[in-house]
Amino acid sequence: MSKLFNGLVNKVFLSQLFVTEYLFKFLVIGSAGTGKSSLLNNFIGNKFKEDRCHTIGVEFGSKIVNIGGKSTKLQIWDTAGQERFRSVTRSYYRGAAGALLVYDTTSRDSFNALSNWLRDARTLASPNIIILLVGNKKDLEESREVTFTEASQFAQENELMFLETSAKTGENVEEAFLKCSKTILAKIETGELDPERIGSGIQYGTNTSKRLSAPKKPTRTTPDCACRV
Ligand code: GDP
Ligand code: MG
Repeated sequence: MSKLFNGLVNKVFLSQLFVTEYLFKFLVIGSAGTGKSSLLNNFIGNKFKEDRCHTIGVEFGSKIVNIGGKSTKLQIWDTAGQERFRSVTRSYYRGAAGALLVYDTTSRDSFNALSNWLRDARTLASPNIIILLVGNKKDLEESREVTFTEASQFAQENELMFLETSAKTGENVEEAFLKCSKTILAKIETGELDPERIGSGIQYGTNTSKRLSAPKKPTRTTPDCACRV
């Protein structure tokens, strides 16, 4: 009898765990080698790898987070190595609610490329997409090429939020995803963002009867590096 009861309690507990209010589609964009896959892996709990192989194939991860008391599933898409060939496709951007725009604090080139990435995000995703600028590899202070001040200025001029992170130490990684998610949620609550608009990148979760005809979910979950040789 107590076994049956415990089983029931476990079942209810587990179902509660997966009750979500919203699902947000997130992108991670920026030049190759800036640490996009490492940031995603750190966020979803995979170990940091020094010799992370290039992302090839479809790659994304998901995580349920609590934002202001609302359980929200973040579905995060990684560029799958397409950025190396400057061929990140329209379908990758379509219907994203938020994006982390990543540069490498030790690479001036990756910082100089930000304007192109930003233009693509705003034209190919949505003009309303919430973007957080991420200066990654902040642990490599001795090799820094981009100062915090100039990146803050770029963020301000382009109406982006900004954080410096380290996918190696984990510093500010969770904060980056949460900060972006909090802003999306705040805009839903003020009515600035409409989850019912097709392509908003937002879907209602399992805790509501409302459903969207939002973009199809990908069929694979490959949170770890999907290298092919
Ligand atoms: P992506 O091409 O943007 O997906 O970049 P990766 O995640 O593949 O990372 C490129 C390289 O930078 C790899 O060798 C990572 O180990 C390294 N890397 C990524 N993030 C950091 C970081 O925060 N600090 C340091 N020191 N190395 C990092
Ligand atoms: Mg990658």
